[in-house]
Amino acid sequence: MDNCIFCKIIDGRIPSVKVYEDEFCTAFKDINPQMPVHIVVASKRHVPSVLGFGPEDKEFLGGIQLAIAKIATQEGLVENGFRVINNCGADAHQSVPHLHYHILAGGDMGERIV
Ligand code: AMP
Ligand code: ZN
Repeated sequence: MDNCIFCKIIDGRIPSVKVYEDEFCTAFKDINPQMPVHIVVASKRHVPSVLGFGPEDKEFLGGIQLAIAKIATQEGLVENGFRVINNCGADAHQSVPHLHYHILAGGDMGERIV
């Protein structure tokens, strides 16, 4: 998609610090980190949110989930743990309408999710 910032990052049209890539997703460091480790895992396909997928996409979505586990292992996050967040829509303040998950780690995030 032409004017999507994450499509541009995936294509290399704008710079990012990529940490992982496979057929399902591209992962890169968040430009405005909310934790010492903050990685964005963006779908290789431009779909605005998880609501845009169907049953035929089970393998694709499962591939992203498996990639998240691989990235957490690769980045050394398994021992102390990590949090995965997906913002969808207005109340969640999704700012980039291209499916992505946040991996947060590097310190105690407390018992509450928000
Ligand atoms: P969300 O609010 O869930 O849509 O998350 C979008 C995330 O993308 C935010 O955490 C932003 O800091 C991050 N972001 C926006 N532009 C860039 C960029 N050029 N490189 C890396 N991360 C970005
Ligand atoms: Zn996109």
